[in-house]
Amino acid sequence: MSQTHRQPEVNIGLVGHVDHGKTTLVQALSGQWTDQHSEEMKRGISIRLGYADATFRRVPGVDPPECYTVEEEVDGEETEILRTVSFVDAPGHETLMATMLSGASLMDGAVLVIGANEPVPQAQTQEHLMALDIMGLENIVIAQNKIDLVADAEEAKRNKAEIEEFVEGTVAEGAPIVPISAQQGVNIDLLIDAIEETIPTPERDPDADARMQVARSFDINRPGTTFENLSGGVIGGSLTRGKLTVGDDIEIRPGAQPDGDEYVPVTTTVRSLQAGGQMADEVTPGGLVGVGTGLDPSMTKGDALAGQVAGPPGSLPEVHDSFTMTVDLLDRVVGDEEAEIEEISTGEPLMMTVGTATTVGAVTSARTGECEVRLKRPVCADPGAKIAINRRVGSRWRLIGVGTLE
Ligand code: GDP
Ligand code: MG
Repeated sequence: MSQTHRQPEVNIGLVGHVDHGKTTLVQALSGQWTDQHSEEMKRGISIRLGYADATFRRVPGVDPPECYTVEEEVDGEETEILRTVSFVDAPGHETLMATMLSGASLMDGAVLVIGANEPVPQAQTQEHLMALDIMGLENIVIAQNKIDLVADAEEAKRNKAEIEEFVEGTVAEGAPIVPISAQQGVNIDLLIDAIEETIPTPERDPDADARMQVARSFDINRPGTTFENLSGGVIGGSLTRGKLTVGDDIEIRPGAQPDGDEYVPVTTTVRSLQAGGQMADEVTPGGLVGVGTGLDPSMTKGDALAGQVAGPPGSLPEVHDSFTMTVDLLDRVVGDEEAEIEEISTGEPLMMTVGTATTVGAVTSARTGECEVRLKRPVCADPGAKIAINRRVGSRWRLIGVGTLE
């Protein structure tokens, strides 16, 4: 595993059906699963988004793709660092689709892991691809995993053809399909090659105001900590632009509910920063960033600020208690070809993911292609923000379409 701790520069989602090998692949690429964050940062997050950083390297003097590795040394020779990436592991269980959707807003690209030993598509393969599709994530690599379990080349080809047919007409059409065995470490070099080609680090404007999507928040104090020793509240998430420096003032919106009802933006100071598993003076987009603030830790306890947005005071988008969105519905419920999706109707409840925020709302006015929603919990977002729309079907929320904030 890498001894060089660097802040990752790009976030790559790892999506796909449960048991198809996402966690195993992350282990193959990064050494150990999310070991790079302090215990405080890890606590209670295993069913939430997992981040794991991996440093891609190249063996000098060797041609691609054989040159690609995650090892620091190959045949006694030191390898060169290409870049450090952060994998965001989205849970595959169906009830955690909302977590996957909120993670999608932090992803610059994605690796879709598909088990080669099962028919394509399995339920969450389909649902996750649909999520990538509607969130407009275009930089996709497909890992055709468990190739060691496939009987022969013919079967592997057949499975590949199934994958190709399945992704036709989606954002993943034409994406490279790399046969691998995450468990046996087969073709990891080819996979790195495809990721390097397909998922570039986005260009960043170094002068842009910082914008952080908060995915978690914590109280890191042990019970019974005395007042003098109390640490301020911590928020965790990813920067989508700009940089944060220790000492910066930040605003967090929608904020807190001091009187138990209306949300009021909070302002505080950045007291400490963590990125790539290390304390830092400055952090930039890529990977999981932890921000120690001067906030009363009771305000950040138990993910209370998850889904909120942080940045320099006065720079953040408007907070919406209700909004109008244009709506683009899917034809059918994903994974249930029988279930046609009906128009949204006035009065119905919807669950919506906007950035990292998930909120429930009631439709106050529905027209074709557009509706107005009153939210239970307000969201902070710019016009044009994508909204994943879920409707209650039977006992669970199902993805039915995408909205755009007006
Ligand atoms: P996840 O649910 O997508 O994170 O899947 P896991 O990484 O937990 O893998 C599920 C199971 O498949 C585990 O028992 C793994 O050891 C196994 N597995 C993962 N990748 C491979 C592979 O390439 N070949 C084989 N034979 N088994 C694999
Ligand atoms: Mg897993």
